[in-house]
Amino acid sequence: MISQRQLFLNHVAQTNDAPLALEIERAEGVYLFDVNGKSYIDLIAGISVSNLGHNHPKVVEAIKVQTEKYLHTLVYGEFVLSPQVQLANLLRINLPESLNCTYFVNSGAEATEGAMKLAKRYTGRQGVVSCRKAYHGSTQGAMSLMSEAFFTAPFRPLLPAVAHIEYNVAEDLATINENTACVIMETVRGEIGVMSPKNDYLKLVRRRCDEVGALLILDEIQVGCGRTGTLFAFEQYEIVPDILLLAKAFGGGMPLGAFVASKEMMNVFTNNPYLGHITTFGGHPVSCAAGLASLEILLNQPQIIASVKEKASLFKDLLIHDAIIEVREAGLLIAVQLKSYDFVYNVIHECLNNGLIVDWFLFNSEAIRIAPPLTINELEIRNACKILLKAIEKTHKNG
Ligand code: PMP
Repeated sequence: MISQRQLFLNHVAQTNDAPLALEIERAEGVYLFDVNGKSYIDLIAGISVSNLGHNHPKVVEAIKVQTEKYLHTLVYGEFVLSPQVQLANLLRINLPESLNCTYFVNSGAEATEGAMKLAKRYTGRQGVVSCRKAYHGSTQGAMSLMSEAFFTAPFRPLLPAVAHIEYNVAEDLATINENTACVIMETVRGEIGVMSPKNDYLKLVRRRCDEVGALLILDEIQVGCGRTGTLFAFEQYEIVPDILLLAKAFGGGMPLGAFVASKEMMNVFTNNPYLGHITTFGGHPVSCAAGLASLEILLNQPQIIASVKEKASLFKDLLIHDAIIEVREAGLLIAVQLKSYDFVYNVIHECLNNGLIVDWFLFNSEAIRIAPPLTINELEIRNACKILLKAIEKTHKNG
């Protein structure tokens, strides 16, 4: 009989020729369990999604309650759906005053798409500025923001008016000008292998945008929802974006994305043309119920976010080895810099054999990604680091 794994390889579309291909049976907290009963400590949380751990009982309960009431009812923006309304309102309460209106979508890429459209429509301009080696999604508009021809060349033509700047380089900000509709960047950069803004960089970006009338879009799809030690990463840098992008952990494990702006800005989607951005499933009631439960937990149990920095320090203290070049952290988004692609490959697979899931970064193949559920405890961190260090030692020894 053909195995489930083989059916997966043959009939579920693949995006690389070496998927991890673990056959997952169930997930709970920081653990994944495969069909053979083997457990894995999950240090990547579905790429920064399961911030409260897998299958948090309160999130699962909220999903169950909502599924008993209604699933899809009508396309986005017509009916008053309580999970959407409550989530938008709770976001508003916890964001600066200007970010008071949420457009719900299904994913991060869609949040990027919607926000770029909003910026173009609101400013009447065409230009978009993004950072080199940044990832904002894989749809054609979002992919246009990528600077790497390796990924984009086969899919051209893409959006024409995109300019790239180097993150953390103040001189490059001159690229932002009167033709720029928006600048889009992550508050803290993920896929490059964790890079935080230096000095007052984000303030300089904000100032330059204001000077020329460009909108600042901050992508917190990966670094929002508590991951860097505050509910939103931008809170640490004394700036407010014009548009904030959320997804991943925002849905509590369900597909949900959002772009958040001012009501005044968002109103442009209602005229010239009306239906300026529409979606059937965006803000699905079950996803919003999960997202609402998840945000409530983060707010009602402040120790989850408050413990992020301390947990990150513990990782840093434990991850000491001759083969580790550097450990960079922005809360519980951590990059362990090693010396080569092959080294990382071997470590990832050795960890997997020993029940630990770590992963790559898209634009840094010499570093290991650590982004566990924020709820991971001290013992779990110690156990995970033991396995990781053993894998690093073994790879190091084998030269
Ligand atoms: N922006 C950032 C910073 C991301 O990390 C990702 C996903 N890795 C996206 C956008 C795209 O999100 P999605 O996969 O939900 O489309």
